[in-house]
Amino acid sequence: MKIKLGPYVRGSQCVQCETVYSREVSFMHCPQCGDTGILDILYDYDLLRQNMPTVETMQQRPFNIWRYKEWLSIPVLDSLSTLHVGGTPLYRSSASLKKWGFETLYIKDEGVNPTGSLKDRASVIAVAHAKSLGQEVVACSSTGNAASSLAGQAARIGLKSVIFVPERAPIGKLNQLLVYGSQVYKVRGNYQATYALSHEAIKTYGWYDRNAAVNPHLVEGKKTVAYEIIEQLGHRDLDWVVVSVGDGCTLAGLYKGFYDWYKLGRLSRIPKLLGVQSEGCAPLYQAWKTKKPLEVAEENTIADSIAVGVPRNARKALNAVEQSHGAWITVTDQAILDATKTLGSHEGIFAEPASSAAFAGLLKARETGIISRAETVVVLHTGNGLKDPESARKAVGDVTQIEADFKAFKKTWKMKE
Ligand SMILES: *Cc1c(COP(=O)(O)O)cnc(C)c1O
Ligand SMILES: [Zn+2]
Repeated sequence: MKIKLGPYVRGSQCVQCETVYSREVSFMHCPQCGDTGILDILYDYDLLRQNMPTVETMQQRPFNIWRYKEWLSIPVLDSLSTLHVGGTPLYRSSASLKKWGFETLYIKDEGVNPTGSLKDRASVIAVAHAKSLGQEVVACSSTGNAASSLAGQAARIGLKSVIFVPERAPIGKLNQLLVYGSQVYKVRGNYQATYALSHEAIKTYGWYDRNAAVNPHLVEGKKTVAYEIIEQLGHRDLDWVVVSVGDGCTLAGLYKGFYDWYKLGRLSRIPKLLGVQSEGCAPLYQAWKTKKPLEVAEENTIADSIAVGVPRNARKALNAVEQSHGAWITVTDQAILDATKTLGSHEGIFAEPASSAAFAGLLKARETGIISRAETVVVLHTGNGLKDPESARKAVGDVTQIEADFKAFKKTWKMKE
């Protein structure tokens, strides 16, 4: 497969053996290391600095992912009419100081992306890239959101999608896939087994591969969330960005975005990154804490989107936390459910468990002193809670049921605290 690239791509580097490849090579991962040889796309920052749009020019552009076309690794066709990805709100937390002891806390709301999660930033790149290569079928395995996002993005521009999901995928995400017209296979097994099956099918049939990490262009899409945060904060410094971590691509993308703009002089320092994992599935946290090689973890958590026993982008994620001088933290399922309730009732944000996990991690980091009160923090809300009503119900319980009779109502009426 010929790989078309954006104008400022210099080449790529394997995160495992560190071999640098030139722009001319045509593979998705390092041929020496196989599919664990994840590539990091390299840019010609000198050339990019000379040609990149000014801050003022940026302000004229529509607020969506394509405003960053100079910084992307794929060629962007102006004629391509995709769903509106990115350009999401950055809210200043209303209750932050009183309730949880932060002077300045922002919430980046990725739940408003067209298919309801941050995964759209990667999937829209995948379908645009597939289209530019003349591919007709895109495929992936996913814990849910990557799949539903790929399916929606593919439908929009007339590509077919084939999707493999593990048994545990929540019903909302499965229904979403079917509504988008995807060919869906629910695999008897965990995410790891699902991934292996999809990998073989993709290789055999030559479909465009949107598997997390393996395709290096996806992180380049996800990094745009960092650019947006920088722009929305008026290029001011921030101290921490908090994100929940499964495969590690979102975290790696964040780092890459901050790194790019730091290298290009649009940011004076890279914020510290806090990677949040669920206690029931925390291979990256464990590797960091024990300073030992990554071990396969069980996938025992309510947060399905970060239930990843074998993270595909472990190296990039661990590097991102280390190079940003950040930290890792774990949270319990109960803390995740509590955070769901808190985010909903104090901020008006309905988050799925993997997304609430980031908020739970943020609170724990504040309590344990990892993050201090005066530091400026952004937490990523990565996925919309509407897709997983069962988990939401676990967080908040049942509604009160009454007869259609005002007298009976009046007897029970009391304003909630
Ligand atoms: C995928 C996902 C994450 C984690 O992203 P990774 O790249 O797998 O680390 C977090 N939250 C939500 C809602 C997700 O869908
Ligand atoms: Zn390699």
